[in-house]
Amino acid sequence: MSQLPADQPHAIPPRRLVLVGPPGVGKGTMSALLKERLGLRTLSSGEIFRHEIEMQTDLGRMAKRYIDHGELVPNGVTIEMMSKQLHDPQIKQSGFVLDGFPRTVKQAEALDEVLFELEQGLDKVVSLEVPQEVIVQRLTGRIGCTKCGEIYHSKNKPPKREGVCDRCNSPLFVREDDRPETIRERIRVFWETTAPVIEYYAKTSTLQRVDASHGPENTYAAICS
Ligand code: AMP
Repeated sequence: MSQLPADQPHAIPPRRLVLVGPPGVGKGTMSALLKERLGLRTLSSGEIFRHEIEMQTDLGRMAKRYIDHGELVPNGVTIEMMSKQLHDPQIKQSGFVLDGFPRTVKQAEALDEVLFELEQGLDKVVSLEVPQEVIVQRLTGRIGCTKCGEIYHSKNKPPKREGVCDRCNSPLFVREDDRPETIRERIRVFWETTAPVIEYYAKTSTLQRVDASHGPENTYAAICS
């Protein structure tokens, strides 16, 4: 393994991260890479909601009403759900990457409070950015694995066998909220409600804007730089 000379500074990878960005920008792909390579725990609010829906819990039933319309699930339940996840003692060891949370300034303020309580700070908030036409193109045709979360695309990255995950052989699925009219609503909600979260972090934390249009490896390298 190559080693850097002792006198040369090298980057220490971030251990507590937030990924912010519009739907389809690649937050899921990036958090999977950060998990695989740095061992960080990924906490995706969207994934957790989808799991609750699959389990047909009360929270899942309630969240589905909003998710199916491309709207945000109310702050109260979302904050409570994510706070519970962050209180897991193992998180302190593993570090974490938050994918899709916070999505409102209220959630960002609540996250600050939870992390203060836990005596942990954020190393980095990454705003992933790509042109809007790329987002629509990526979301239309997106296919995900029901088990490992690997993401494919019908044109750009098709699985080797149709409907089956290359990595774990589980069935693939198209998200209900990846229909064109719901995609438009999710993008609108992002600009109205989530874009101010980026401004919030520009003032209060370590914000890094990353151009995510040059593929996952370049994006990953920029995050770890
Ligand atoms: P995602 O998988 O991150 O694209 O999230 C899918 C859907 O789950 C979103 O369109 C919202 O309806 C809901 N959702 C996910 N995260 C949040 C959040 N932090 N606050 C409110 N709703 C959320």
